[in-house]
Amino acid sequence: MTTAAAPGASRPAGPDAEVDGGRIAAHLARFAALSEPGPGCTRLAFSPLERRAHAVFARHMAGLGLAVGTDHAGNTLAELPGDGDASAAVGTGSHLDTVPSGGGYDGIVGVAAAMEVAEVIVRAGIRHRRPWRFVAFAAEEGARFGQACNGSRMAAGLTSAADLPGFTDRDGVTMADAMAAVGLRPDLADRSRWRPEEWHAFVELHIEQGEVLRSRGLDVGVVDVISGSTRLRVRATGRATHSGGTPMHLRRDAMVVAAECVVRGDAVARDPARQGARVTVGRLTVEPGSITTIPGEVEFFVDVRDVDPERQRATARLLAREFAELAAARDVELVTEVIADTPPVVLPGWVADHTRAAADGLGLPHHVLPSGASHDIQQIGHIIPAGLLFVPSEAGLSHSPDEFTPTEQIVPGVRVLLRTLLRLDGADR
Ligand SMILES: [Zn+2]
Repeated sequence: MTTAAAPGASRPAGPDAEVDGGRIAAHLARFAALSEPGPGCTRLAFSPLERRAHAVFARHMAGLGLAVGTDHAGNTLAELPGDGDASAAVGTGSHLDTVPSGGGYDGIVGVAAAMEVAEVIVRAGIRHRRPWRFVAFAAEEGARFGQACNGSRMAAGLTSAADLPGFTDRDGVTMADAMAAVGLRPDLADRSRWRPEEWHAFVELHIEQGEVLRSRGLDVGVVDVISGSTRLRVRATGRATHSGGTPMHLRRDAMVVAAECVVRGDAVARDPARQGARVTVGRLTVEPGSITTIPGEVEFFVDVRDVDPERQRATARLLAREFAELAAARDVELVTEVIADTPPVVLPGWVADHTRAAADGLGLPHHVLPSGASHDIQQIGHIIPAGLLFVPSEAGLSHSPDEFTPTEQIVPGVRVLLRTLLRLDGADR
């Protein structure tokens, strides 16, 4: 549904008029400089570069006079005390890590927005009755350890300290060891859990990572539901033999089975009965990886996303069954295991209503849409009321060096965010 403000509607200037695109662009440039060499931006979960980005956020907030701290999960929180007697906070923020060769906007725009909102509130001396908390979540991207939203999952109590040695990156480093290596205390991660009674609502601003807003020429999207994700690790084991010496009828080629599985997954997701499902194979390893040897072992990862939890799990189960049949037909062994499973989250309408009213007040037409990507807000939303606000993505690109949103299209979203937080500050619901 798209709504447009009436032509000529009055648009009273508020503190949001102070939102400064130049400052936001400067924050984004500072974060973009913190990258490993190579295309785009590489600042992996629980890496020293991610910690340096958190330090940039912390210094900005401390400079504005906020109380800042990093919890044992690696999340950095900055708090501005409220003037009133309400103790349940409003909050905003996002993440600062990226995928390998990612962009400078996914997550980072939401943190830059939090930095700008805090600056406007402090500089203008705006009174607010609730505490305002600004958060840079740790390790949101699942690219390194397979599980996404690690900092927010720990804050929500969905991942505990005992789970952390169970996640490993491709070099065999566990999440617990990676955290310890950057000075965190993974053994104390359970102390990072948020107390729901200390929160009124949390709203994250994020780039859309799709083309809905761009195609409609809109600056703002309000999310109603976030897709869940079931991730599978599949290992196909055949027999590695000479590519010239082994006739076709004697082959047990793990790569051919993997290829059939990839195509099958794509076809299942395109079935009109599963409209809304998304199936992706984004990583595949072939052993022994020689041009003249039939692949004896292939490992690949399947990401199943949906806004319907039943259909999400049913699709994952169907794929596991069909992959097994495809492998059996070629005498290849195949094992499928679920390595992560996150259900979709329906966001509370009353929080979204405040965002929509904030956009209306600014005369900004907006659109209500689902999010195909997972976000920190999805985890936080399990324990406190949460909202998600989108700004456009140029060409819908994300997790790419070409990810881009012009500052002129970030500023309206930050203005809506600020107005949303002010509305939530003054309201009981
Ligand atoms: Zn993100």
